[in-house]
Amino acid sequence: AKHGGRNRLAEFVPAMTAATQRRVALERELRQAIAEQQLALHYQPQFDCASGALVGVEALLRWRHPEHGLISPAEFIPIAEDSGLIVQLGGWVLHRACQDVMAWDRAGAPALTVAVNMSARQLREPGFIDDVMRALALSGLAPERLELELTESVLMEDVAGAVAFMQAARALGVRLSIDDFGTGYSSLAYLQNFPINQLKVDRSFVQLLPQRGETVIHAILALAHGFGLSVVAEGVEDQRQLDWLRAAGCEMVQGFLLGKPMPPQDFAARYLSPVG
Ligand code: C2E
Ligand code: CA
Ligand code: CA
Ligand code: CA
Repeated sequence: AKHGGRNRLAEFVPAMTAATQRRVALERELRQAIAEQQLALHYQPQFDCASGALVGVEALLRWRHPEHGLISPAEFIPIAEDSGLIVQLGGWVLHRACQDVMAWDRAGAPALTVAVNMSARQLREPGFIDDVMRALALSGLAPERLELELTESVLMEDVAGAVAFMQAARALGVRLSIDDFGTGYSSLAYLQNFPINQLKVDRSFVQLLPQRGETVIHAILALAHGFGLSVVAEGVEDQRQLDWLRAAGCEMVQGFLLGKPMPPQDFAARYLSPVG
């Protein structure tokens, strides 16, 4: 450990600087990305477990960077959150998602729900609930077809503020889900205080099926159903996982087995074009 230590430090420092530089550059470029139409939403289908019917989509943000290509939201969402840009970005996502689903309606699609991911910073933004109202009014989407996904960490950051936001959203008729359920803290203690409609079982549990993970998912299903909530399992990648979830009474499924996130025009072509 003694020899080479200095060399390792020398390698580490420039690497850190490069990562920081990329971050600073991305933050600057993110400001222009909306105006320059580098951002896009991809949609992943959600299916009713029992009937197999397509029931909704989740909107997932994509950044087509002119030099770096496709950048994962896992990288740029945290940058947008730290810089406050997430408020503008999240507003764009909300409006775009409502409009895309209504365009499918006009093309004769069934009345799908659309799930939109939320950051903590958006919940704290005083005008955000008005923006939700505006997105619904401008698109004509029925409020009960919009689902806002909140992670446990988003909820725990400011419980009182989150509850106030959730009550305002529910008063509009909008639906609320807890995303990545089972990976956070305090979820059980707070479940009864949160006016939510649905839990999304995190992919990390689903991927253990069918050999492992059953105990946790059975417990989540019992808990959710006890509170009158429905359950979506995310990250379903193989048939045995799907079979297990159907038998266990999970309401909805989402995952690469059934459909990957895709651009709206691909989604329409694959799922909404008249068959036969
Ligand atoms: P998430 O909300 O948990 O979204 C699910 C992620 O799992 C997506 O990654 C999706 O592509 C991926 N996924 C879906 N099915 C499968 C599967 O069967 N197997 C595997 N391995 N992965 C699957 P993605 O699109 O890269 O998004 C990552 C995260 O970025 C999201 O996790 C969400 O936390 C965040 N995010 C994406 N779009 C937005 C947005 O508009 N606003 C906010 N605040 N966050 C967003
Ligand atoms: Ca989500
Ligand atoms: Ca999730
Ligand atoms: Ca996640």
